[in-house]
Amino acid sequence: MEFLTPDKTHDEARQGEALVLEPGEKNLGRKLYIESYGCAMNFSDSEIVASILAEKGFETTSDFNNADVVFINTCSIRENAETRVRNRLKEFAYAKGKNPGMVVGVLGCMAERLKSKFLEEEKLVDVVVGPDAYRDLPNLIDKVDGGQKAVNVLLSREETYADINPVRLNSNGINAFVSIMRGCDNMCSFCVVPFTRGRERSRDPHSIVAECRDLFNKGYREVTLLGQNVDSYKWSATQSADGSEQLAEQPIVNFADLLEMVALIEPDLRVRFSTSHPKDITDEVLHTIAKYDNICNYIHLPVQSGNSRVLELMNRTYDREWYMGRVDAIRRIIPDCAISTDIITGFCTETEEEHNETLSMMDYVQYDYAYMFMYSERPGTLAAKRYADDIPEPIKAVRLNQVVAKQRESSHYRLQQHVGRVDRVLIEGFSKKSDQDYCGRNDKNAMVVFPVQEGYKPGQYANVLVEKCTSATLIGKII
Ligand code: SAM
Ligand code: SF4
Repeated sequence: MEFLTPDKTHDEARQGEALVLEPGEKNLGRKLYIESYGCAMNFSDSEIVASILAEKGFETTSDFNNADVVFINTCSIRENAETRVRNRLKEFAYAKGKNPGMVVGVLGCMAERLKSKFLEEEKLVDVVVGPDAYRDLPNLIDKVDGGQKAVNVLLSREETYADINPVRLNSNGINAFVSIMRGCDNMCSFCVVPFTRGRERSRDPHSIVAECRDLFNKGYREVTLLGQNVDSYKWSATQSADGSEQLAEQPIVNFADLLEMVALIEPDLRVRFSTSHPKDITDEVLHTIAKYDNICNYIHLPVQSGNSRVLELMNRTYDREWYMGRVDAIRRIIPDCAISTDIITGFCTETEEEHNETLSMMDYVQYDYAYMFMYSERPGTLAAKRYADDIPEPIKAVRLNQVVAKQRESSHYRLQQHVGRVDRVLIEGFSKKSDQDYCGRNDKNAMVVFPVQEGYKPGQYANVLVEKCTSATLIGKII
């Protein structure tokens, strides 16, 4: 797996990070340790879990050796994500050996995929909980305290945790992720998400706007609206918060409407979103992005493959020409828009010529960033049932290297376009290398580093003249 991107929706540096909150009012002295893997949605879910348990008197700890309850929020997207979790459980087994009263729970996608099998395979695990069952955690922990093992992997058609205000103390206080929907109704043949996160459902737009406004009031200046397929966001006002039908006569809120509602909260609140599906992204959404300065000119548009036959096998429901048409629309409606993507190399039966079409697609779009992966067969998916995983690993790796090499050139080319320009940068904090420098991102999600200047602090915007660039960063000065 390779990342050539400063995008934080899958942040490699945060994998396995423990969530720590300040003790709440109901602190009853029981300690919770929770660490997360995978995409931003999982990190956001861990905050929901911590909020639910804080209500029951739990406080968080960053040391699992001291914890009464140890949770690992897991990812199933590729085999290596699951291997990482299995290895981590071995370390928890050692701690549990010393503290037999410790409750160990597996949450998230791997819990949903393996269900009670997890309890058979990993003897130290006491609780297995899927992504839609977190409200049940206090009961499940009680059950384990009573000497039983506990499993709840029920998927829901309604649960959006809309009423739970997640706590965000690990954050920098400037950027926040906000879930706008859960699950996925697409059936990409390689992907385990529809099985682990259930049916797609959208969250009440008023609760989304209220959460974003609250974040702005607390000093946050950027929200990233999260969903597996944000362009199919749809809320009908005839729907009540619990999903039941009501008789109100109000129009449907689609993703373009939601973007506008969030953009209108405050001009100084930047709005990002991820992920856009090429089959669903509409011109209406593109016009909304173009209309509001605070909606960032940055679209994550996963292509997966540049070849129409492979795309059909992947069940992506668009072909090469459709994808290029969407890119053309972006360039026409938002001329200065960064585009990033996801690419899978060595999908079932992919030929050399077909792989070359992925490379030529990369030439066509000249992506700003990309997440690039070798195909990893996932049990239970359509591809695992229908097609042989027949591309040898070394060939998948060669193709991945070619894709990575091309992306490196393209990312560098895109960064160079900024040199000599003045970018509006949201200051996020000091740069990793020096507290003499600030870092922050421009509208297009490129990281910019520049000397600290009096009168400017994190959370403010600065106009930065970009003077040069490295392979992944722009360097400049405030003007
Ligand atoms: N919903 C988003 C979409 O449709 O693009 C992203 C979902 S997934 C969490 C992120 C990326 O992981 C996918 O875009 C795909 O490139 C990659 N991925 C998913 N399943 C995979 C698999 N079995 N092997 C390799 N990469 C995979
Ligand atoms: Fe997986 Fe496809 Fe849904 Fe994305 S759109 S989560 S790749 S099934």
